[in-house]
Amino acid sequence: MEIPDELYREVILDHYRSPRHHGKMEKPDVLEWGKNPLCGDELELYLTVNGDKITDLKFDGKGCSISQASASMMTEAVVGKSLAQVKAIVSDFKGMMMEGKPADALPDDLEDAKSLEGVQKYPVRIKCALLSWNTLLEALKKLESRKAA
Ligand code: ZN
Repeated sequence: MEIPDELYREVILDHYRSPRHHGKMEKPDVLEWGKNPLCGDELELYLTVNGDKITDLKFDGKGCSISQASASMMTEAVVGKSLAQVKAIVSDFKGMMMEGKPADALPDDLEDAKSLEGVQKYPVRIKCALLSWNTLLEALKKLESRKAA
C-alpha cells in the first residue's frame, strides 16, 4: 500500500498543531524527563497508573515538530493499556524506526505513528521521533523499580 508523503505530513502536522494529552499533571504517579541534545528537544512525561494500566498520561515539552508530534501519537497509542501491552507497542514502534519493520505490519494502535515511517530515512531525526517512546520506557523502569522495592 502506497501512501503519498503528503498524507504523512498532514498527520504529523495535525499532531504537532493539536497535540493529544498535552500539558502537565498535578499528581502523577511517575514523572520522567527526556532530552535529545542533538536537536534540542525536551520532554516531560506524566503518568497515572492504576494497577497494571496506564489510565492517563500527559506530556509537555518543546522541540521540533517530529519530536512533539511523535509524543502526541505515543500518548494516544498507550493510554488505557496494560504495562505489558505498552511495552509491546513501544517495541513495535522502535522496530519500525530502527530495524525497518514495515509500517503495515504494525498494530492499529500505532495507526497515526505509522506516518513517522519516512523519518527512518533521516538518521538524525530518528532520535527526535524516539524521544517520547524512550522516555516512556524510562518511566516504566522507574515504576517497576519502585514496585520491587
Ligand atoms: Zn528534534
